Amino acid sequence: MKVQSDTTIAAPATGIGGAIGIIRVSGPGTFVVIDSLFTPATRKDILSAGGYTVHFGSFEKDEDFIDEVLVTLFRSPSSYTGEDAAEISHHASPFIQRRIMELLIEQGAKPAMPGEFTMRAFMNGRIDLSQAEAVADLIAADSEAAHRLAATQLRGGFSAGIEQLRKELITFTSLIELELDFSEEDVLFADRFAMTETVIRIKEMVDRLASSFRLGNAIRKGIPVVIAGRPNVGKSSLLNVLLEEERAIVSDIPGTTRDTIEEVLHVEGLLFRFIDTAGLRHGGDEIEELGMERTRNKLRAADIVLAVAEATDSAVDISDFAGAVSEMTGTSEARIILIVNKSDLITRSVASSLTKELRCLCPFPVILVSARDSTGIDDLKKQLTASVETGRLDNPQYIVTNARHYEALRNVSESLQRVLDGFRDGIPTVLIATDVRQAIYHLGLITGKISPEDILGEIFSKFCIGK
Ligand code: GDP
Repeated sequence: MKVQSDTTIAAPATGIGGAIGIIRVSGPGTFVVIDSLFTPATRKDILSAGGYTVHFGSFEKDEDFIDEVLVTLFRSPSSYTGEDAAEISHHASPFIQRRIMELLIEQGAKPAMPGEFTMRAFMNGRIDLSQAEAVADLIAADSEAAHRLAATQLRGGFSAGIEQLRKELITFTSLIELELDFSEEDVLFADRFAMTETVIRIKEMVDRLASSFRLGNAIRKGIPVVIAGRPNVGKSSLLNVLLEEERAIVSDIPGTTRDTIEEVLHVEGLLFRFIDTAGLRHGGDEIEELGMERTRNKLRAADIVLAVAEATDSAVDISDFAGAVSEMTGTSEARIILIVNKSDLITRSVASSLTKELRCLCPFPVILVSARDSTGIDDLKKQLTASVETGRLDNPQYIVTNARHYEALRNVSESLQRVLDGFRDGIPTVLIATDVRQAIYHLGLITGKISPEDILGEIFSKFCIGK
């Protein structure tokens, strides 16, 4: 998208419905455009009005009265976009909204492209690229945890950390490049040992961030859960019990039907998404009928697997089954929760010894439930949240939620690995410098700050070579 910040743009900022609508205007012509269409009740001069002021009056054109509105004015650079800007709060009729937009456009404003206000905020340095992306995430967040991650990123999140790493690497390249300048004199400005230590430290941080992506992505989209088990163990009954409250809430919303409801469950601010359980529920014996591969694929896509067995089976059989499920998840990091359903069919003492035995036999959390009587369901919900690394959520600025950032971090990590290999193998400095520049480039892609001048600036400001 090409942003022309010499233009003034306008767009409705609210959807249809509600009592009040807001139209946003931004760009150098904002005050002139508003002044030509808005008559303040106080007869105050809009052109000379300050930022962060609100004005009540009529929106009209040549005696054609449109609405009584409130206009909030923002003066550059203290606005969302960094430009002169205004928000017109009007009565939310689609007609009024359309008329106000038409008149703004007649007066020279252009209809804004999607995301253009945020794009301008980025171009004007109000926010960096990752913060701009967080705006979209914040709007889309539908659980407390997803909201918290997006909000953290919007307020700077790991941008500051990424910038810090990038600066360290820029200092690092400036030292290396200095050596290149003096290459015929065969000097080493930088201690290779200290450099290796720095690169290892930065790479570790980058890898830690990249590894948080699985969790971050899951939280943003909903943590994928698969229910696995032989036919008739009670998988669909269990899912129904789990979703009972949720469905009751969802079905209150007009226009939703059970068919189209995605099977999602909110527990303690986390969103769990049950993926393709229909197949597992009704498909018969997964292992024998649908084939190992299909089952494996489903299990691999899961972050959490609920392995469901029956309380009337022996502890050894149940444990073998859990082991088989675990094997099928392959190398994926999915966490398994062993659920022993139909606990209503066994006595308390049998239940207690079965649990004890299972805890010895298998390494997974074991929960006894009865889908029929709705017992053990709270324990299961607790275990679901415990299986998510909620501890990491205490430090949301270290969680990557965005696939583009993840990709960039992986590239940074690969470049830094080549730098380390280069040091170890005594590769010429010129080649090492290329890999460091690659790492800087990819880090810069995250925050949108890529400029070779940074490196030049660093060399000239710090070393005053005078060449
Ligand atoms: P699925 O094939 O694994 O999805 O199993 P279903 O949920 O369809 O349940 C199979 C049968 O087990 C049904 O007759 C259920 O009523 C019964 N069932 C499910 N959960 C329980 C339970 O907790 N206790 C008892 N006694 N029966 C259950």
